[in-house]
Amino acid sequence: LSNRKFHPEPTTVKVGNTHIGPGNMTIMAGPCAVETEEQLMCIARAVKKSGATILRGGAYKPRTSPYSFQGLEEEGLRYMQTAKKETGLSTICEVVSNEAIEAAVKYVDMIQIGARNMQNFILLKEAGRSGLPVLLKRGLCATIDEWLNAAEYIIAEGNPDVVLCERGIRTFETATRNTLDLSAVPVLKEKTHLPVIADPSHSTGAYKYVPPMAKAAVACGADGLMIEVHDNPSCALSDGPQSLTFKKFDKLTKELKPLCDLM
Ligand code: PEP
Ligand code: MN
Repeated sequence: LSNRKFHPEPTTVKVGNTHIGPGNMTIMAGPCAVETEEQLMCIARAVKKSGATILRGGAYKPRTSPYSFQGLEEEGLRYMQTAKKETGLSTICEVVSNEAIEAAVKYVDMIQIGARNMQNFILLKEAGRSGLPVLLKRGLCATIDEWLNAAEYIIAEGNPDVVLCERGIRTFETATRNTLDLSAVPVLKEKTHLPVIADPSHSTGAYKYVPPMAKAAVACGADGLMIEVHDNPSCALSDGPQSLTFKKFDKLTKELKPLCDLM
């Protein structure tokens, strides 16, 4: 179902009042984690002003350590809904369980399956039955074929609205948090009709490397970007080191504009 051989035309996925697909560079931006209503509103306004069309914000955080901030759960989803109402941005939130999916369908426009759950087949099937478009992140050690099989699980449940997100894979290199596998973008474009976006934040783990990798992702054919933005990165409850300030994010979107027009 995801194979381009049987579906040559590229797919466009509708998300709230926008869509992801060819000819429309989608920028999803927002905090790693929803922290407070004020924080989310402030970030939502800023990223909208700079050109983002989808607000990201984690309410269920699959953290490496059980002692790290785990997210506001349903309360965080409610803040996402408030931000959507006030700014008109479409919204996306990661889900980590069937209960999280049940809650998310009430509040957001798209659900995200994170890297750590890419092969959680029960969750994938539930996402396939959710009725919401799904952003499927690449697993930390997943091959492209394993990733496409994970997408197939969602589509096989009757949900064709799947977007793939390259977010870096684990390699021997330690200078960046993960290694952004940009070659996955053209490979996927050949193998599948699904839209493909890139996440230069989780792949690099460092705000300095986000702008160059974001531009590279656009240049190699990505349909969109997911970028972490925070009003005060040094105080962020998660992923502060890779979060862009409003000023840096605004500068990046301005620099991306001519590149997008070229593509
Ligand atoms: C995220 O987007 O907040 C996230 C946890 O990403 P990943 O699953 O790619 O690590
Ligand atoms: Mn994060």
